[in-house]
Amino acid sequence: MEGLLGITYRCNARCKMCNIWKFPTKKEEEVKVEDLEKLPRMRFTNITGGEPFLRDDIEEIIYILKKKAKRIVIRFPKICKSFDSQTKISPKEIKILE
Ligand code: SF4
Repeated sequence: MEGLLGITYRCNARCKMCNIWKFPTKKEEEVKVEDLEKLPRMRFTNITGGEPFLRDDIEEIIYILKKKAKRIVIRFPKICKSFDSQTKISPKEIKILE
């Protein structure tokens, strides 16, 4: 089983081909960490948004999904600043693919 998980529609990019950033979710509307515990085991999970690293609990989300899936991919804007400034995840744990 493979999964695609949109964890927020908030985004600090303004891509012309996309209008997600015009309709951001409120934090309280977004999927909760405790809900992720209910997901089945997966072969592959794609975490997307919006900008996933705008979630304050992104580390917790990743650690829960790592228990559920053999492989996790996180899509975020190349211009993303939140990854560096808000994330405490060790660089050893993340492989960035261009
Ligand atoms: S980074 Fe993604 S979600 Fe954000 S505006 Fe661009 S295409 Fe849309």
